[in-house]
Formats: sequence, structure tokens, C-alpha cells
Amino acid sequence: MKKIVKPAKDWKKALSQEEFTVLREKHTEPAFSGKLLHNKEKGIYYCRACGNPLFKSESKFDSGSGWLSFSDIVMQESIELNTDFSHGMTRIEALCAKCGSHLGHVFEDGPKPNGKRYCINSLALDFKKQ
Ligand code: FE
Repeated sequence: MKKIVKPAKDWKKALSQEEFTVLREKHTEPAFSGKLLHNKEKGIYYCRACGNPLFKSESKFDSGSGWLSFSDIVMQESIELNTDFSHGMTRIEALCAKCGSHLGHVFEDGPKPNGKRYCINSLALDFKKQ
């Protein structure tokens, strides 16, 4: 996959202030604030920074956490994982494999069969109906 590398000032121009703080500065949007949180339409969720396809609506579920929750990703190559030691916790960070933008975190308390919960900021995603 061809990687997208841009300086922060270019990302700032391309994104809103709140999108920039989540995607490029790894902030977390407030729980239950996401516009796509209760989206039940069929389609694909893309990285809002670069358009990389990340999740299918079929894998979206309501975890009650206040953030979008997915049990699987579109392709193994679409997301990169990174160990995140910030805020006194050890978590697995999910990043867009194409542009390196922060998306959210991955937890091991998701539904069967794979048990994953991709906990993702709505501000990091774009949705297109299928
Ligand atoms: Fe991206």
C-alpha cells in the first residue's frame, strides 16, 4: 500500500480543527458525541483523512461505550496497530495503514468469533452508503 506522508500544516488545511486533533494528535472525541455513532445504514466506513476503506457496516455493533464499535476490519492491511502507553494505560492503538492517522483503540472484549472491539472515533471516519 502506498503511504501518504504530509506535514502537519497540510493536514491542518485538509481537516477541520476537531478532526485534526483526533486524527493527527490522537485526541479522543467525547463519548456519545459522534455523528456516526448510531448510523445503521449499509455501507463502508473510510478514513476521513485519506479515504482508505476501513470497516464494513456489517461488523458495526453497539457496545454501549459511546464510540463506534466494529468487530472486524475490511482488510488486514487497512489498519496498523501500535502499543500506546499514554494516560497511564497500556492500550493497542489503531492507525490508518495508509496515512498513519489515529483512529481509536482495539480491545479484546468484542463479540465472537474473533473477540475484537475496534473502538473508533466518529471524527476519524467518513461513511458512504452502498
Ligand atoms: Fe488514512
